[in-house]
Amino acid sequence: MSLRIYNTLSRALEDFSPLEPGHVRMYVCGMTIYDLCHIGHARMMMAFDVVQRWLKSSGLRVTYVRNITDIDDKIIKRALERGITIRQLTDEMIAAMHQDIGLLGIEPPTVEPRATEYVPQMLSLIGQLEGKGLAYRASNGDVNYAVRKFDGYGKLSGKSLDELRAGERVAVQGGKEDPLDFVLWKASKPEEPPEAQWASAFGTGRPGWHIECSAMSCATLGETFDIHGGGADLQFPHHENEIAQSEGATGQPLAKFWVHNGFVRVDNEKMSKSLGNFFTIRDVLKQYDAETLRFFMVRAHYRSALNYSDAHLDDARQALKRLYTALSLVAPADMAAIDWAGPYAARFKAAMDEDFGTPEAVAVLFDLAGEVNKTRSAALAGLLKALGGCIGILQGDPQAFFQAGATGVGESEIQAQIAARAAAKAAKNFAEADRIRQALLAQGIVLKDSAAGTTWEAAQ
Ligand SMILES: [Zn+2]
Repeated sequence: MSLRIYNTLSRALEDFSPLEPGHVRMYVCGMTIYDLCHIGHARMMMAFDVVQRWLKSSGLRVTYVRNITDIDDKIIKRALERGITIRQLTDEMIAAMHQDIGLLGIEPPTVEPRATEYVPQMLSLIGQLEGKGLAYRASNGDVNYAVRKFDGYGKLSGKSLDELRAGERVAVQGGKEDPLDFVLWKASKPEEPPEAQWASAFGTGRPGWHIECSAMSCATLGETFDIHGGGADLQFPHHENEIAQSEGATGQPLAKFWVHNGFVRVDNEKMSKSLGNFFTIRDVLKQYDAETLRFFMVRAHYRSALNYSDAHLDDARQALKRLYTALSLVAPADMAAIDWAGPYAARFKAAMDEDFGTPEAVAVLFDLAGEVNKTRSAALAGLLKALGGCIGILQGDPQAFFQAGATGVGESEIQAQIAARAAAKAAKNFAEADRIRQALLAQGIVLKDSAAGTTWEAAQ
């Protein structure tokens, strides 16, 4: 393997080879599922989609676990506000997430565990920590982790306990012995619904957020695995706490590589609901096609801060159009396999092997597109399409992409609407089926039904 990955733990690029030859095990902290995914979530999932795709392109088998946090204060609150059960809320939001990220071409993980299905494993882990003197029962009924008893605390964020304590402004609360101690098991409160309560040896309660990931990663990937990923904002305290729990219980390193993606900013400001610059994936897809949003994200390096703005999305759209133009000039030859020794493929591979260097890899695609324009070579066009596929772009029909630009609707979104309309028809909900057809028509998309299924063309 010639792949190097930046490891947050060592703050350096390190040579990567999987613990088990030929098989990579990767865990990424997923969504807390109480609302629609915003573009920050999309960026996290996109970053690890590129990682997963490149590991596979490198000939490795990948077991990719991305969890779902389906029990949490915000989830309980939102379900109560909406007058629905927690399960109704989380099922609805998980379906919406799958739909949204599917449009962006983000491949599903191998396993997508839900926290509520792993409560026994969490309780067993808390029991082990208590047995080792790393957990204690607090006066308010919670079970907390005793941070000062774990030697390695702070090694991921690179901070000492004293530094971390100095930054902790919150007074010691809830029976904590140290301000940095965190909750493993939260005692139930009378106003919480029965759905949010589990009986246990520690009393009736529910798991804290951090213990969920330690239990789910161990249950699905084992005590030690290759890559642990997540957004940069999770380094402290979430990932530091996962290390304290997992390594405190097993005595083994949790993950060999810690990989963190950068933040998303909007017009150079922090994205937040209070600033009114908060975008869900659905908001963006009303204005731009899904592949443009994907390309905007993958042409930046996953560790850099990503600045979202209309100007940058317009620019991404124009750039992607140049690549598709090359593919519209000459029908790309089918590539059975990429010859990585060829000059363009070798440069692309060298870029991706250096910490998933997508900006340089995309630059190679532009050079290759220039060559296709000059030579009209079907083989080079085929290579352009195949290399694009390694990062999940350029797989559509060029004409459909150009039309999507004219209408503002992307191919994948149209296909999703066609599928939704077919489902509505099957359920004999003809009003809904007609509404979808009319809504597409308003966007310049004409549906054609035949025995073989439904196709579309742009309105004249
Ligand atoms: Zn986690």
